[in-house]
Amino acid sequence: MFLIIICAFSKFFHKRFVIVITTYLKGSCYICTSKNRKHFTAMAIMITDECINCGACEPECPNNAIYEGGVEWRFSDGTDLSGHISGKNGSEADADAENEPKSMDVYYIVTDKCTECVGFHDEPQCAAVCPVDCCVDDPDFRESEEALLEKKEFLHV
Ligand code: SF4
Ligand code: SF4
Repeated sequence: MFLIIICAFSKFFHKRFVIVITTYLKGSCYICTSKNRKHFTAMAIMITDECINCGACEPECPNNAIYEGGVEWRFSDGTDLSGHISGKNGSEADADAENEPKSMDVYYIVTDKCTECVGFHDEPQCAAVCPVDCCVDDPDFRESEEALLEKKEFLHV
């Protein structure tokens, strides 16, 4: 019995040790939250299905990156972009063109327009006002503070 407990503990700590080391090597911090961006890679924000469609977050976004479900989005909405635009990765787009909604049922965030409020506020404003805490870090989109600042400058010339 004693040996089983020892094995379970060592497996538990080994797993966490591996997570800490791999996240450190990837440039992110396993310990910190998104409010401390100085030394790790931040994540973009996403809205989960828990959204109750209250609309509180939409007017708070400095980049107009939040849209109601079923509504088309544009790069030019609430930014200084217009006409033909080129991204750093070589992608091209028409800033005034309407794009397919990313969700039909609940509010959604356009990742390409979300800067985690970097350059405007100390913390993501959508997450700060959401009454049900459904504006959360998106693990699929990790960006450094530098990249988020560059994005902010791209959106607001
Ligand atoms: Fe907009 Fe800031 Fe929320 Fe991103 S984190 S969607 S920039 S309010
Ligand atoms: Fe949905 Fe939260 Fe935004 Fe309200 S504040 S619309 S619940 S994401």
